[in-house]
Amino acid sequence: MLPQHMPQLLVVDLEATCDADQRIARAAMEIIEIGAVRVDLDSLEIVDRFQSHVRPAINPRLTAFCTGLTGITQEQVDAAPWFAEACAGYAAWLAASFDGPAWASWGNYDKGQFEQDCGRLALADPHAGLSHLNLKTVFAKALDIRSCGLAAAFRHLGQEMVGRHHCGLDDAVNIARLLALAPAFAAEVRR
Ligand code: AMP
Ligand code: MG
Repeated sequence: MLPQHMPQLLVVDLEATCDADQRIARAAMEIIEIGAVRVDLDSLEIVDRFQSHVRPAINPRLTAFCTGLTGITQEQVDAAPWFAEACAGYAAWLAASFDGPAWASWGNYDKGQFEQDCGRLALADPHAGLSHLNLKTVFAKALDIRSCGLAAAFRHLGQEMVGRHHCGLDDAVNIARLLALAPAFAAEVRR
């Protein structure tokens, strides 16, 4: 599954501005949290974590729906860096700690959202040069089930998520935990 043997995997989960009934169009959604963990694929342990909230520019006021979903408050995004600065901080963390070749997320949403936010500001995507692994698809294949959400993946295993679902960092931690909780999943990722 990975392009070459790699001792570490980067797992990323983003949160973005949103409203009920998609009243914020997909093209106008903006990242409000970057959560990421590096996982040692030999021990399946999380070896490093990154979290940054991000101040949105198009829709600077979070909806009650968004805060209810993600737990991210208006005060947190008001105090956070704009995307260009947050993205530079994330890129610096990656450059200092991760040498690829792949990053991963649950589904393809996070990849598209990162490309959208970087494209809007003509920023270099920090994942340029890395291939992307859709762990939702890999999990479904490994366990021979239909692809499902993260919470459903935990229910399937009879396991509990830790932290708060829809917090970017906690989601990234939980995605990474699935590797240790489902050996067939880890084997498929390593393949
Ligand atoms: P997640 O990683 O599942 O927490 O979702 C990432 C982002 O997708 C969220 O921050 C929202 O912007 C959007 N999103 C997720 N679930 C919903 C939902 N039920 N309704 C509207 N937007 C959602
Ligand atoms: Mg999330």
